[in-house]
Amino acid sequence: MRILVVEDDLLLGDGLASGLRSVGFVVDWFRSGDEAERALEGAPYDAIVLDLGLPGRDGLAWLVRWRARGDAVPVLILTAREALESRVEGLDAGADDYLVKPIALEELAARLRAIGRRARGRPETVWRHGALEYSPTGRSARWHGEPVELTAREALLLEVFLASPGRVLSRQQIQDKLYGWGEEVESNALEVYVHHLRRKLSPRIVRTVRGLGYALGPAEATERAH
Ligand code: CA
Repeated sequence: MRILVVEDDLLLGDGLASGLRSVGFVVDWFRSGDEAERALEGAPYDAIVLDLGLPGRDGLAWLVRWRARGDAVPVLILTAREALESRVEGLDAGADDYLVKPIALEELAARLRAIGRRARGRPETVWRHGALEYSPTGRSARWHGEPVELTAREALLLEVFLASPGRVLSRQQIQDKLYGWGEEVESNALEVYVHHLRRKLSPRIVRTVRGLGYALGPAEATERAH
C-alpha cells in the first residue's frame, strides 16, 4: 500500500515514515497540507495518515476540502486532541479512522491494513489465487502450501497484482504503487521483479500484455502450471 503521511512534526513524521516503510508500506511524507494536496493530485495513494494540528489550515479543513471535491482516498486522522467531540468531528468530516497520539506503530500499520481491506472490498486476511496464498499482514506467500521467500519489493508487486485481479496494469500504474516520491527507479527493475515472481511462484503467475503492461495470470492456469 502506498501511504501519504501529513505530519508537521519532524521527529514524529520521520519516525512514522521510516517505521511504516520498515513494515512494507510505500510512504511519502509531507509537512504541510499544501504539499500533501499536490502529492495527492500526482500519485495513487491507498490511504492518508493526517495530523490534525498542522500550521495554517488544519488537518480537518484539508479533509473537508478533499472530501468536498470527491476525493475518496481513505483517511486516518492522527490527533493529540483526545476530546470526544474532535474525534466525532473528524469521522463526520469524512475520516475513516483515527488514532490518538502517542501512537504505536504496530497499531497504525494494522489499522492501515484494515482500511486497505475495506477500501478494496476484500475482507479476507489471506488472499488466495489458484495455488497461491498471500498474507498482506506478514507479507508472506505460499505456493501449494510451501512457503516462498519474497523480498519486500517482490511482495509489494504481488500485492499490487492481487489487489486488481483481472485488470491490465501499465508499467506506470505499477511503478506508482511500488515507489515513493523521489525514489530512484531503474529502467528494467519492473521486468526483473516480474521475472523473480515467475521463477519463485509460476511462469504464469504474471501475464505480459503486449503494448499495455502486465496482469495477474488466471487462477486455474497458475494451478495447472505447477
Ligand atoms: Ca502537528
